[in-house]
Amino acid sequence: MNVHDSERMAGLLEQAGFESTEEASDADLVLLNTCSVRERAEEKLYTRLGELRQMAASNGHDPIVAVAGCVAQQEGEHLHTRAPGVTDVVLGTQAIRRLPMLVEEAVARRPKGPPGAQRRAIQPLLDLNPYDDVTFPLGVTRRSDPVKAYVTIIEGCNEFCSFCVVPYTRGHERMRPKADILAEVAEAVAGGRREVHLLGQIVNHYQAPDDPSCDFTGLLEAVHEVSGVERIRFASPHPRHFSDRFLEAMACLPKVCRHLHLPVQSGSSVVLEAMRRRYSRESYLDLVGRIRATLPDVALSTDMIVGFPGERPVDFDETLSLTAAVRFHSMFSYKYSPRPKTLADQRLPDDVSAAEKTSRIVALQQLQREVQLDVNSALVGTVVEVLIDAASRRRETELCGRTSQNVVVNLPGDVVEVGRLVSVQVERAGPYSVWGRRAVSGGPGGLPGANG
Ligand code: SF4
Repeated sequence: MNVHDSERMAGLLEQAGFESTEEASDADLVLLNTCSVRERAEEKLYTRLGELRQMAASNGHDPIVAVAGCVAQQEGEHLHTRAPGVTDVVLGTQAIRRLPMLVEEAVARRPKGPPGAQRRAIQPLLDLNPYDDVTFPLGVTRRSDPVKAYVTIIEGCNEFCSFCVVPYTRGHERMRPKADILAEVAEAVAGGRREVHLLGQIVNHYQAPDDPSCDFTGLLEAVHEVSGVERIRFASPHPRHFSDRFLEAMACLPKVCRHLHLPVQSGSSVVLEAMRRRYSRESYLDLVGRIRATLPDVALSTDMIVGFPGERPVDFDETLSLTAAVRFHSMFSYKYSPRPKTLADQRLPDDVSAAEKTSRIVALQQLQREVQLDVNSALVGTVVEVLIDAASRRRETELCGRTSQNVVVNLPGDVVEVGRLVSVQVERAGPYSVWGRRAVSGGPGGLPGANG
């Protein structure tokens, strides 16, 4: 979601006449888009602001600095107190469209002369207001990926899980009109994108404001109809909102990738209740069973938090046993850190020691690595369909792509193949990706429909 917000802001600035540059020392404007989901991500912002102040002091280059995203929304004026004289614009999560205007205003009021006391006294321009309008002008987003297009369907969240800052930083849940979504999908495809990623905090809660008969299942069906779309992904569904109708529809829609990101957060029902997730270990495992019965080839990934307030060794053991039982294809795991304003921060003592959190995350990640190696090893010898999405960062002659199940596949090839769907014979597996080479076209196991 943050990557996509950056694409939107880059597009708005481009329309206002800006061009991107790789170096902050060349820039007239530095825009920092931020995440506050964890404490560490937030700290990075202050480090970066310190570096920018240092740059201005050492060589006099003093660009306009705008801070956007969740930390901007959360910190507001406080940014100026913690890092005085660096930030010119603080842009809340719902005010993205106001960015060019605020930058223009900041340029106009900038005191002449070298950076110094005069500059430090100026308060940043702030827009932290809630705006309910979730439509976004078509044609503005500067898409950074040649293959995938991110398309927002819902903004904000009403769930208020006790650890999560999102409802406070991104506001209440707002649904984007279906017509707007479909127009953006068509535009992205016309611009060459083959894979659409539908984004929202709880995508399967979607209800079209402009079509009362269209829920998330209906939206998936409508996106599936858009000519030129080859793959559809979405993030993230909430385990509480899975209907049989949705699972059955997914099974009938071949463009919908066989991957579900299903955040569980903990394997213990006691901890899940304290987290206010509104499902239990048992109901989550029951859902996994229903999903696998309807979609046997689906891959599941998840988010997990260790060291949540009150998490006992026995609770953590349940996280390990659930991880082993579900056999997730991948997992984002985090050590708990209290986030401002959240219920957990205000009511629950952060009582698992830092050392214990570290030892738990190490154990969880070790187990998950073993599961992933096992799951990926099962692909060796098979032929998989891969959408090539990038040239490898490590070797010029290597490409990367993903299977429908979101498994990363590395293969030899040329950058001109980015964007193609190809059949790959898997030869070797690691915990985070697999390696293979193009399957002989039309040979045994070749995939119908694969091209390139
Ligand atoms: Fe945060 Fe819970 Fe909403 Fe997800 S569902 S964004 S964890 S409050």
